[in-house]
Amino acid sequence: MDFGKCTLDGNVYGAYKFSQLSDNEISNKRKHLVCNKCDAKAYFKKKAKSGQAACFGARPHNPGCSLASEESESCLGTLYDDERELINAGSLINVDFDFNTKTTTHIDESAEDSSSSTTSSRHFSSNGIGSAESKRKLKSLLNILLNDSDFSKSNQKINIGHTYPYNASTIFRKFSDISTSDVNKIKGVYGQIFDVNEFNTDIWVNSGGYDDCSIVIENHLQEYFYERFPDYIDVENLNGMYVLCFGEVLKSKNDKFFIKLDDISKIVFK
Ligand SMILES: [Zn+2]
Repeated sequence: MDFGKCTLDGNVYGAYKFSQLSDNEISNKRKHLVCNKCDAKAYFKKKAKSGQAACFGARPHNPGCSLASEESESCLGTLYDDERELINAGSLINVDFDFNTKTTTHIDESAEDSSSSTTSSRHFSSNGIGSAESKRKLKSLLNILLNDSDFSKSNQKINIGHTYPYNASTIFRKFSDISTSDVNKIKGVYGQIFDVNEFNTDIWVNSGGYDDCSIVIENHLQEYFYERFPDYIDVENLNGMYVLCFGEVLKSKNDKFFIKLDDISKIVFK
């Protein structure tokens, strides 16, 4: 969409005008944008390296917004049947980090969706509801987190390969819900991306303001990151995307929460 409203200063900006602000101003204001028609949380993308003009967007708009049809990007989607069954069955979920996938392998998004979906369906149809275990890829977990707000608060058991499985309510955190009690613990942090910066040689992926958790992708991982996620070689394209990242929550000396990505298999986007 061409216009976005900043709730910090109350101004409605055209995308080009917004892109002409200083980098600092853009970085601050882009975390506080809403759709000018429906007030849904909105993101801003700078002019892409591919030439696509700067634009605003919302994933999703509020129901009935006349600007919703302008956007071709897919929104949150819905739960697949097997994901719904999985939640209802309350079975143990083994997280499939896909460590065996070479970092150089580009993930075929459609193939991944169908394989994770069918594997689990087969599992359920052969064992019936109440199956003890099921394997889920990060992409499916992110889909469940976004489409079932109760899942992250539930006591569904999540096995990430540690000695004991965690409750979903223990392991999953929205970016904005990270607190001091989460520091030095492994969490699966998720939410929408509204600001991506390169600082020194690191990439900082941010959701909300300074108080929210961020993800740091250090220089040594970036080559693998771009090979695995070629759509994000232009990191501006991450804005508006949803992310799930597993890692240890750290706190900088300036009281900033962050997760340092330590393996390319521990992050996924949707
Ligand atoms: Zn809207």
